[in-house]
Amino acid sequence: MRLSPAVSTLKPSATIAAAAKAKQLKAQGIKVYDFTLGEPDFNTPEHIQAAAIKAMQEGHTHYTASGGIVELKQAVCRLYERDYGLKITPNMVVVSNGAKHAIHNVLTALCGPGDEVIIPTPYWVSYSALVELTGATPVLIPTTPESGFCLSRQQLEAAISPKTRLLMLNSPSNPTATVYPPERLEELAKVCVAKDIFILSDEIYEKLIYGDAKFRCVATFGPDVAAKTIIISGVSKAYAMTGWRIGWSIAPVELTQAIDNLQSQETSNPCSVSQYAAVAALDGPQDSVAEMLEKFTERRNYVIKRFREIPNIKFVEPTGAFYMFFDVSAYFGKKLGGGKVVKDATEFCTALLEEAHVALVTGDAFGAPGYARLSFATNIPLLEAGIDRLAAFLKG
Ligand code: PLP
Repeated sequence: MRLSPAVSTLKPSATIAAAAKAKQLKAQGIKVYDFTLGEPDFNTPEHIQAAAIKAMQEGHTHYTASGGIVELKQAVCRLYERDYGLKITPNMVVVSNGAKHAIHNVLTALCGPGDEVIIPTPYWVSYSALVELTGATPVLIPTTPESGFCLSRQQLEAAISPKTRLLMLNSPSNPTATVYPPERLEELAKVCVAKDIFILSDEIYEKLIYGDAKFRCVATFGPDVAAKTIIISGVSKAYAMTGWRIGWSIAPVELTQAIDNLQSQETSNPCSVSQYAAVAALDGPQDSVAEMLEKFTERRNYVIKRFREIPNIKFVEPTGAFYMFFDVSAYFGKKLGGGKVVKDATEFCTALLEEAHVALVTGDAFGAPGYARLSFATNIPLLEAGIDRLAAFLKG
């Protein structure tokens, strides 16, 4: 079939595809140790569910303003003031169908053919696909484990061209699970201000921070940086609300108006009931966020301990989000479980799934050849059994 140029080369999201493959095996009755998807295994906290039921009963089941209800925009403003001392106004906020949709809106509003968007790699699978959908060109800049997978000022300066429109940052990062030191973020932000480039700062994992790592919202580095920054976040990860589809962008007013126009033509409002639930999430008690973080911290510490015991696996300790991102390249060309020999990370993940029924996502999907990503947003017994099987597979 003749498809549009924009979608004819589009691949399905690799994480969703990996999860689908695991599901296929499960459908055959096979027990699969699935660590593919980046979503909390917890149920949405009860007071948030109750707010959704109340919203339905009160008749909030109709279209809302396309960019979201004022109550939620105001709750977003309160959140940034409370948590980061950042003053924003509701006319800087658009509420969308998840953070992914918010990113798509921002890219569509800002970029087009001939523009370049700088993306440090490893990067979240959807970034380059969403940039390409606008006709702009992703400029991928590799970072190394030695730098904690952080882009340097020198790298940024060298990547900037007259066509550069935007720098995409993601801290804490999916897939690397590392957090940029605030000083580095500020350095990069100042370069963008000097060169008149926008920064899209995807802060969806902002509440999931471990050890000494410090999260810093990029728009808090002063008015000059705020004027060039678009913050992306949402309720999916911190409040275990992936299915509710609520995310947002915070951007200068003129850009926000353009995003709102776009969304009004494209999807209209995000789900009305979910929006009321999100108000309860942001304004209600935050204990459940702390409780979930405690659980994630336990799992993270467990996974680090186990991975330290596996020979020839290299990794940077996760300090944010909920991923273990590790280098498996030492095992290429060696005899693994079931006599399998693999030459790259994609073959590695396929063989691991087929032989040991452990599902991971290949680093190839994140612009990180040689790596694999394990999501530890799941319970410790499952992690224990899955890592046992991974270790046995590696022994051959
Ligand atoms: N940004 C990053 C880095 C993510 O990992 C994800 C989800 O996996 C998203 C955005 C999308 O979040 P949402 O589910 O709110 O669309």
